[in-house]
Amino acid sequence: KNNMLFWRSIMFMFLTCISIRTQFCCSSNPSSLRTLAINGHLTFDEVHDAAKDFGNRLQMLPLAVLHPKSVSDIATTIKHIWQLGSDSEITVAARGHGHSLQGQAQAHRGIVINMEALRSPEMHFYTGMAPYVDVSGGELWINVLHESLKYGLAPKSWTDYLHLTIGGTLSNAGISGQAFHHGPQISNVYQLEVVTGKGEVLNCSEKQNSDLFYSVLGGLGQFGIITRARISLEAAPQKVKWIRVLYSDFTTFARDQERLIASDNAFDYIEGFVTINRTGLLNNWRSSFDPQDPVQASQFRSDGKTLFCLELVKYFNTDETKKVNEDVTNQLSQLGYIKSTLFLTEVSYVEFLDRVHVSEIKLRSKGLWEVPHPWLNLLIPKSKIQAFAVEVFGDILTETSNGPILIYPVNKSKWDDRTSAVIPEEDIFYLVAFLSSAVPSSTGTDSLEHILNQNRRILEFCETANLGVKQYLPHYTTQEEWRAHFGPRWEVFVQRKSTYDPLAILAPGQRIFQKAI
Ligand code: FAD
Repeated sequence: KNNMLFWRSIMFMFLTCISIRTQFCCSSNPSSLRTLAINGHLTFDEVHDAAKDFGNRLQMLPLAVLHPKSVSDIATTIKHIWQLGSDSEITVAARGHGHSLQGQAQAHRGIVINMEALRSPEMHFYTGMAPYVDVSGGELWINVLHESLKYGLAPKSWTDYLHLTIGGTLSNAGISGQAFHHGPQISNVYQLEVVTGKGEVLNCSEKQNSDLFYSVLGGLGQFGIITRARISLEAAPQKVKWIRVLYSDFTTFARDQERLIASDNAFDYIEGFVTINRTGLLNNWRSSFDPQDPVQASQFRSDGKTLFCLELVKYFNTDETKKVNEDVTNQLSQLGYIKSTLFLTEVSYVEFLDRVHVSEIKLRSKGLWEVPHPWLNLLIPKSKIQAFAVEVFGDILTETSNGPILIYPVNKSKWDDRTSAVIPEEDIFYLVAFLSSAVPSSTGTDSLEHILNQNRRILEFCETANLGVKQYLPHYTTQEEWRAHFGPRWEVFVQRKSTYDPLAILAPGQRIFQKAI
């Protein structure tokens, strides 16, 4: 009899727990969200697009998608989830343009915020000394470019591709060929408006709520949702001189790149890429580069060798053409490239900045854009780049047909070490980006499996050779790996999380913190 009583009381306790839990869960189920007082709307059925991204490898269905009309829609939603406390499993991911690689903007059974729906504030320009634009965190950089040009202005620091949102790139860093001079995009922001993981709306800058400001920049979406940013601008040039020269020797290539980034006025953009065992050298999908002298360009034969292409750009206005030509000729005369490989073209500033979009249109028309993208982006200290190049370009990779491999150095002095971005220790470090596309049904060297295996070998080499490499757009699955990624900065990162998003509601797709339930 005692036994029966014991089991009955256990059963009672169990059912009570379930009932309490159900009550709480009920308050976090769609019906409680449906009653939220917001100007925009939540959708519960059309959520499939929010489970996709550019990486095309991971899909997590959310519970709902919020299409905010105002900042308060975002704050109200997050505050509601914050108030449910740790009894609700709901998380929130801001989704910019969904160009993450491994689900970073997704939220399994959570709420995805469609940031592009946030049209306020309208872009506002200040055109005096130190000009800037105030812009919604969900705005695309391409739109910022077009609007800024109406005032003869433009942002200083870019990404290679502009169909990405302000909030999405500022959550990482935003690196391109201008970063050696201006720093990444996170070094070119004056002010942010942020909704924290508690649903508070806060303005922040170097002077106001500065800890929040630097936390959010490069913060992988962990501390708040960027709803507005004040981006620094400069006078926009009309045109650019776009130059490519080739090297067969990596040491000479790297020496020239490093010499060029030491000067702020030799060129305005400096990048480079590697080709291994390739013909059709100029058919690089990432650029619409169209050499002025196609005969000369097509006559160049690489014979399947490994080549390093230095890519340079000089901005200019048409009334400065003569002077710019002289300057460029002078700069080029000091470089050690293969002299018969000077490819030069002139395009408008917009054509240059929006170059990858031209390739996107071509690839989309052939169904080659929405394929898996097992990209690997690494930041490598200058002192280790030789060792890296010898092993990776000389041994691990036998050809580069799966997509471009970018390689260029940047100056650490242009990065602010108060931000959350993680970079190597040395004064100069290289971005090396393996931008592979996989062919879905293939079992060959263009298959996802083959490319992932190559990526793994590259990472293993970096680890065993102790190169001090950091991943850019990092992806890890365990907290131990994240701890190693942040190194001595991990404690600060955790402290910031507990201040601004203590329940770990935000950006669950990064898999750094798990919401406690
Ligand atoms: P999403 O993928 O939507 O989001 C990225 C992360 O930021 C997620 O964790 C998300 O939750 C969070 N997030 C999004 N919006 C906000 C917000 N408003 N507030 C807070 N958190 C937010 N990067 C470079 O640095 N340089 C390049 O040259 C470059 N070129 C690229 C070219 C292509 C073709 C692609 C696909 C990507 C490229 N990237 C480059 C990477 C790109 O910067 C990142 O993937 C970026 O996150 C994409 O922006 P998004 O708007 O699509 O963000």
